[in-house]
Parts: sequence; structure tokens; C-alpha cells
Amino acid sequence: MNIHEHQAKELLHQFGIPTPKGFAAFSVREAGEATQQLSGPIYVVKAQIHAGGRGKGKFKEASAGEKGGVRLAKSRAEVQTFAEQMLGATLVTVQTGPDGKAVNRLYVTEGVEIERELYLSALIDRTTSRVAFVASAEGGMDIEKVAHETPEKIISVTIDPASGYMPFHGRRIAFALGLKGKQVGQCVKLVGDLYNLVLAKDMSMLEINPLITTKDGQLSCLDAKMSFDSNALYRHPDIVEMRDLSEEDPAEVEASKYDLSYVKLDGTIGCMVNGAGLAMATMDIIKLYGAEPANFLDVGGGATKEKVQAAFKIILSDPAVKGILVNIFGGIMRCDIIAEGVVAAAREMGITVPLVVRLEGTNVELGKKIMAESGLKIVPADDLDDAARKITAAVKEAG
Ligand code: GDP
Ligand code: MN
Repeated sequence: MNIHEHQAKELLHQFGIPTPKGFAAFSVREAGEATQQLSGPIYVVKAQIHAGGRGKGKFKEASAGEKGGVRLAKSRAEVQTFAEQMLGATLVTVQTGPDGKAVNRLYVTEGVEIERELYLSALIDRTTSRVAFVASAEGGMDIEKVAHETPEKIISVTIDPASGYMPFHGRRIAFALGLKGKQVGQCVKLVGDLYNLVLAKDMSMLEINPLITTKDGQLSCLDAKMSFDSNALYRHPDIVEMRDLSEEDPAEVEASKYDLSYVKLDGTIGCMVNGAGLAMATMDIIKLYGAEPANFLDVGGGATKEKVQAAFKIILSDPAVKGILVNIFGGIMRCDIIAEGVVAAAREMGITVPLVVRLEGTNVELGKKIMAESGLKIVPADDLDDAARKITAAVKEAG
């Protein structure tokens, strides 16, 4: 799960990590009010979307101006002008894709005089199963370009959980960032505090780009991006509260309500499967027969009739779906329950696309009987290969 910059910075504040003061604003009035509690003379108005590259982004609407999603304002009036232009407009950045993202909230912060822009991030390194910090003196907006063209300018420091964070980790990062004098000590403390924050909140990723040195010699986190391990969210109600559903795919949000694992893909064959491994095998075999899956969907081990119906609705809400393949192995789940769910959903939704169902396991004969006697056009399949062949052929035929 991801959160907005203003929420990430709230967490930085809580952990005593230096970052410019700011306030979230959902309206022009709130943006103006924020300036009263900030020390000017420069303010920064920042579009809040779950994507980076805002500074160099462009709005779709000409009325939103040419200046991108991070703007320096010299007065309260100018903050309000920018807020007026940005709120409700659609910002396109290298990370949003061509459709862009609607800006529904802003973050108004104190403007800082930047001396240098640096890069610092932390992530869970899956090869070492440890937290790794990644740092570069080449911070600012183009870290992907640095990684591609001059990878030697990026260093990585891995923290052994047995020792925990040690000052030498921070010093190594400070030297890589080209920090000197008092800033080395500041950096050692800052990286340690970030490490504690990453662990305390079960983050999967934290990115500060840029980390800056200010004209008066201080380190400060000017931008912050955080992702959290969704499997650990149950122990972080404060983080769950920060979730912004408008930033997520509506079908995926709907699926999570029913505890379905759904990921939208670009193909035409909707898949409903139980078990992640079987779901992946199903997607593979669809590709083997020359078609593309429209989604990954795992209904889980103990799916109910209601869950199966919800799954159908979600699959069919994607207009690209030209056929559906149901592939269920009834172990814990009984095939007759699945069959009832499939029949009920097909009936309720008046499914017009070809529907192939492969059932195997407990009560399979009863399940097949329920489908055969339903009077609906459900094509039964005997095994995975048979199912994939039938659905790809049916979709091709339907044209
Ligand atoms: P991003 O483009 O989405 O990564 O947004 P950032 O928050 O990183 O801002 C982009 C750029 O705007 C930064 O790299 C800075 O160069 C500039 N910027 C942001 N805040 C300030 C500020 O307070 N003062 C100055 N001078 N520049 C800022
Ligand atoms: Mn940034």
C-alpha cells in the first residue's frame, strides 16, 4: 500500500526526522490558510498523487498552466492561484502513464533554499532479506537516468538485523553523499531514524528524493515516498487510515472487499481460479494457446457462492474480456458450491461471452450436473489443457 507525500512527511515529523513544515489542502481556501501557519516568504504548492516525477509533469488542461505539479509561490495569493489551477486537473508524469492522475489534494509547505540535492532510499532487499539503503550524491529528479548511465554513482549499504543500525552504516552513506563536518553526524542520526521508521511501520520501500542540504547547512527530506507491506497492515491501523482508495484501481478495490486477489492485465480472457499457483499455471497455458489473460484472480481456498459471484462481476466489469475460463480445484472448496456460484452469477449477469469451466476434486460429478442442468451455455472441460484449448477457440470463433 502507498500513501501520499503529506502523510509520509507526517510520519517523518513523528520520528523527529527533519522535513519542511507543511499542511494538506483539499480546497483553494485551505491552501491559502496553510500559508498563515508557515513562515514565508517562499511557499511550495505540491500536487498529491501516488506517483513521482510531479515537478517535471504536465497537466492535461491548458488552464492548469505549464509549470508542473510542484510550484514555488511568493505569496499567499500566488499559492491560491496555483491551488485553483491544480485542484481537479489531471497531472501526467513519467510514472502515471499517459492517462495521468486527477489531483484532489495539495500539500503546501515552507519553501527551502537548496544547496545540494541528494538521493536516499531504503528497501527490503529480497536477495539478502535485509533492509538496504541506496544513496547517491546525484539526487533530484532523474535517479533512473543515473542508475542507467552511471551506476557507479549509486552505493548500497545493507543492515545486518543481528547488529541493527550502526553509526558506521550512516558514515558510509554520509561520505558517499559528499557530506562534511557537522553534516556527517546529522546524517548518521537521520539514517538511523529512517531505519527505525522503516522497521516500526513495516515498510517495503522508503524514498527520499531529494534529500537536501540547505543554504544554512542543514539536512532535510524535501520529498518522501513510502510503501507498506500489505501483509503487515493488520498491525498498523494508523497506516490503513491513510489509504486513499481514489488512487487505486476500482476493480482491485472491489476485489479486496471480498478478499479476492485480483490484478488487472491487458488480455481478453478473464480467469477465475483458486490458488495463486494454479492461477499462474492457468495464465501460462492461455498464453501457450496464443491468447492473453485479462486478469489474475485467486478466489482463495474457502470461497463461498457470494465470493464467486463477486469475482464474476469484477471480471465482467472489464470491457476487454471476451471469454471467461473458470479453473477450480475443489479440495477444501466443494465443486458443487462453485457450480452453484457460477450458475447464479451467469444467470444474474446474463453472461454473453463464452464461458468454459474446468472443475476437479470433491463433489465434481455433482458440480458438473448442476451446470449441465442449468440450461446455460457453460462449456465443461476435463483438464487444464482441454479448458485452455476450448476457451481460446471459442473467443477466436466469436471474433
Ligand atoms: P517530484 O518531482 O514528484 O519528485 O517532486 P519533489 O518533491 O521531489 O520536487 C521536485 C523538485 O522541486 C525538487 O527536486 C526541487 O528541485 C524542487 N523543490 C521542491 N521543493 C522546493 C523548495 O522548497 N525550494 C526549492 N528551491 N525547490 C524545491
Ligand atoms: Mn522527488
